[in-house]
Amino acid sequence: MVKRVMIRSVSVPIKAGPLLLRNIITKYSEMTPAVKAALIDLSGTLHVEDQPTDGAVEALERLRGLGVSIKFVTNTTKESVSSLYARLIKIGFHLDQNEIYSSLTAASRFVQSNALNPYYILTDDARKDFPVNDNARDYDSVVVGLAPERFSYEYLNEAFRILHNSKGAARLVAIHEGKFYKTNQGISLGPGCFVKGLEYSTGVKSVCIGKPNEYFFRSAMPDGLKPEECVMIGDDPNDDCFGAMAIGMKGFLVETGKFQPELYEKDALPKVSGIFKNFGAVVDHLSGMLNQ
Ligand SMILES: [Mg+2]
Repeated sequence: MVKRVMIRSVSVPIKAGPLLLRNIITKYSEMTPAVKAALIDLSGTLHVEDQPTDGAVEALERLRGLGVSIKFVTNTTKESVSSLYARLIKIGFHLDQNEIYSSLTAASRFVQSNALNPYYILTDDARKDFPVNDNARDYDSVVVGLAPERFSYEYLNEAFRILHNSKGAARLVAIHEGKFYKTNQGISLGPGCFVKGLEYSTGVKSVCIGKPNEYFFRSAMPDGLKPEECVMIGDDPNDDCFGAMAIGMKGFLVETGKFQPELYEKDALPKVSGIFKNFGAVVDHLSGMLNQ
């Protein structure tokens, strides 16, 4: 099988030769500003549940050695930021908790800034990142994250009634609308279909907080940088890559998580900035760009 890298949506066979490839990458780097920050997805990119993806721990250290600012940006909504941080440390990554920017963090800020009193469909752990409910007030919104044990008729029907009975006044807040994600048991259903189901039955359009929302990427960027100086690395063509590319970042896609290249026709692969075997291959590419 011919290994390929994608440069600005142009698929280049490695067998074209290292000199040709180097020339193409050089031209690519001449066209673009230096990379100053990497926004890195977690699940499916750096780890799958309690296993780092191949070479990811060491590749992250190499990336830090390039002097690039790092932010971990995640739509993971099953775990609070503190639990996620503890898991990453336990499986071998070196990071600071402040480097994690979660859609839970962004959604909690949204709840607070709008003074909402939501009915939460979240795991107990994720719930820790949100304000406590005001029991003197009625629910005025529904917040939905990935919460497999709460996606039952009982909880969804309660959410439906809050939205339906408010006659359009209540907000539906989707922490993200992911279709599916990768677990040890294989590809698994995300929260998106439950959000869409509530929209269908109530006519209430959701506010989506996490990736691929533009607001999420802009608020995750280190201060003072332009999107053109940032790369987003993830395993979801839509939520990670296209969302970041929409505001001017580069979007690099890895094959270690939910992205399944075998499901695509050869000429119909997602038109992202680059497709790589794993996170380490992205770091190699960035290293080449920065050491021209
Ligand atoms: Mg992911």
